[in-house]
Amino acid sequence: MKHKCSVCGAITEFDYKPGGKLPPNFPFCSARCRAVDLGKWFGEEYKISAPLPNADLMADEEKEALAEFLLETGEVDEITDEEE
Ligand SMILES: [Zn+2]
Repeated sequence: MKHKCSVCGAITEFDYKPGGKLPPNFPFCSARCRAVDLGKWFGEEYKISAPLPNADLMADEEKEALAEFLLETGEVDEITDEEE
């Protein structure tokens, strides 16, 4: 079966048997794309929370861990806090 990665568009092909295991990074082609998708989700969530001055949906350690991971994968060169 073929699947198109929703992040980078790469086509991954794998054998799928009913009841069998999906690839570990499904529906993404790699751990990198999985992290990118998480980052996008995080970005949207963060913007939504912005109008609420005291909303703190994610702990600082979690933000830092995600930022570090994205920097390591080379997906982003810099992480800037969008809060104004
Ligand atoms: Zn991908």
